[in-house]
Amino acid sequence: MTYSHTQYFEDASIASILADVARAHRILELEGHGDMSMGHLSFRDPFGRGLWLKRGNLALSEVDADDFILISFDGDVLEGTGLRHLEWPLHAEIMRARPDVNFVGHSHAHYSTILGASEETLKPYNNHGVWFAYEGVPRFTETSHIITTVPLGVAAAKTLGAAQAILLANHGVAFVGSTVAEVTLTGIFLEKAARFQVDLKASGFAPIEPDPEETKEKFDRIYPAKAQYNFWTFFNRRLERVESAFGLGISPIALPPGI
Ligand SMILES: [Zn+2]
Repeated sequence: MTYSHTQYFEDASIASILADVARAHRILELEGHGDMSMGHLSFRDPFGRGLWLKRGNLALSEVDADDFILISFDGDVLEGTGLRHLEWPLHAEIMRARPDVNFVGHSHAHYSTILGASEETLKPYNNHGVWFAYEGVPRFTETSHIITTVPLGVAAAKTLGAAQAILLANHGVAFVGSTVAEVTLTGIFLEKAARFQVDLKASGFAPIEPDPEETKEKFDRIYPAKAQYNFWTFFNRRLERVESAFGLGISPIALPPGI
C-alpha cells in the first residue's frame, strides 16, 4: 500500500492530517459506509493548490496515509500516483462553493442510500438525527447517476447549500466538515439516523415528531466541540482495537460483538 512519493515531506501538517483522513475512511467502513472500492474523502490543500483525494481501487477499510493524490480544482493531478476517482467534481465543486468546508466525503452507505432512493425526509427521531437539526439533509434529484461532470458537481453543491450532508437519489450521500472529526461524525451520524428512521418506519409504529426549535437547542447541548472531540477519539480508539486484533481492511461483517 506504499509507493514512492515526495509530497508528504514538504509540510508535516499535511502528512499528519492525511493520516487522520485515512483513519476516517477506515472508521467509516466500520460504520456501514463501505461498498467495495467505492467511496472517498478529500482534504482541502492548505496551500490553495486544490484538494487531496483518496486514490482509486482501494476500499475505505484499506486506506493508509499515503493513499492520496493532490488534484487541482479543475481535476489536474498535481502530486501522487494512482487512479483519480471519477467523482472528483463532487468534491471540487462543494469546496469551491463552501469556503468553510475543508473535508468532503462521499459513499454509498446502505441506509442513507435507502432514504435517498425514497421520498422520505431525514428527521431528528433520535440523537443522531439531531446532528442535522439546523439545515436538514437535502436530496439531489437531478440525476441518479454518479457525479462525474463539473455541471453536476456545481448542481449538487447548490442543492447542498449550507447543509452538512446531501442525499444523492438512487446513488449515495455526500457529507462535509470543517475538521476531519466533523466530516467523520457527519457521515457516521447520517447513516445511524437513516438506519434508525428506516427501522422506525418499518416497525409500523406511529413516530413522534420532535419539535424543531427544541431539536436545535438539543443539538447545541449534546454536540458542543468538546463532545465532538470525545466522539472522534472514541471512534479512533475503537478502530485501534479492531485493527490491533484483525489488521487493516476489516469490514463490519467480520467483527465479533463487543469490539
Ligand atoms: Zn458514488
